[in-house]
Amino acid sequence: MSKKKAKVYYEGPLKGIFDTHAHLYDRRYIEKGVKIEELLSNASGSGVDKILIPGDNIEKSKVALDTAVRYNGTSGVSIWAAVGVHPHEASGYDKEAEQALMDLLNDRDRVRAIGEIGLDYYYDFSPRDVQRSVFERQLELAYEADIPFILHERDATGDCLEILKRAFKEGKLRKNPGVCHCCSMSVEAATELLKMGFFIGFDGPLTYNNNRKGVELCKACPSDRIVVETDSPYLTPEPNRGRTNEPAFVPFVVERIAEIREEAPQVIAKVTTENGLALYEL
Ligand SMILES: [Zn+2]
Repeated sequence: MSKKKAKVYYEGPLKGIFDTHAHLYDRRYIEKGVKIEELLSNASGSGVDKILIPGDNIEKSKVALDTAVRYNGTSGVSIWAAVGVHPHEASGYDKEAEQALMDLLNDRDRVRAIGEIGLDYYYDFSPRDVQRSVFERQLELAYEADIPFILHERDATGDCLEILKRAFKEGKLRKNPGVCHCCSMSVEAATELLKMGFFIGFDGPLTYNNNRKGVELCKACPSDRIVVETDSPYLTPEPNRGRTNEPAFVPFVVERIAEIREEAPQVIAKVTTENGLALYEL
């Protein structure tokens, strides 16, 4: 193994970083016996002091919110949650789920977005027509509740943009609609999102050396629209690829963005945190 590969936690000068997307409740942590306190103390040691936990179904959304409430402030880390039904789980969306979602949205102190919502035609875990209608319904909820949303899109850019552009034209997208999380779109497609006011989320894959598309998007994205995220426990950035991802690894994404955009890492850390706070209206 190379010297670079041996690095686990970040030891540089960056501070105040916002991991805008981390599934701290994921079963991978539970199976490995990793405690949330440990993840938060690691995060804090790496200069990460803000985390948002997204939900992916009603049950996990409740857990995301409970985790945010219970652990907020632990090791000096502020924590918020998002609640929503992921396209993988769209088949389980019914009236009851919607009511539960609306109830969760009442806690605006900790619930700062609807998410993850969107379309995933790569896995197709729910039928595509169901994914589309559940996405559209939650878009309406976000608009009615006046709250941003976290977009998950994979291999469904065409349909996704069509749905969003329609909502935009009808005046049913907020000025700050939300974020394209782990954005894998082309510069051209992402530009459509930027025009509608979206933020763009970058994470581990940006550090992989075959990700030319991500690098192009990172270069093209206006600096006031970039947010950083881990998608923990998935998408571990280099030099820790192969390990379970955690918020403490997000500074490596910040450093990679700085390298691509030829900026100081401190500048990227500062601006991405400001953007994260603007995105979740904190
Ligand atoms: Zn996620």
